[in-house]
Amino acid sequence: MKKVEYLLTDGTHIELEYDENAPCRACGLPVVSASMGGTDLCPWCDCGKHRNGEPMTLAEFLDINLLRMKAKEIQNKLDALKGVKQNGKVNS
Ligand SMILES: [Zn+2]
Repeated sequence: MKKVEYLLTDGTHIELEYDENAPCRACGLPVVSASMGGTDLCPWCDCGKHRNGEPMTLAEFLDINLLRMKAKEIQNKLDALKGVKQNGKVNS
């Protein structure tokens, strides 16, 4: 569990606790960190980008299943790259 503090427009603060492993309401991947969109929207989706920095397309904004499929595909590639860095070799 993580905590985040939001500054409200009336100048007060609220502190929320959230599960960083809970699925993002847009991409479905673990939210990792709260964003300005809330504790259930990952920072990447909040900025309209995939986790590799690639901008989301209009088609992905309009079709959540397409967005989630692409997000998972990118995450799998990033995980594979992380494995290469940790093991020093490519898994075949
Ligand atoms: Zn997301």
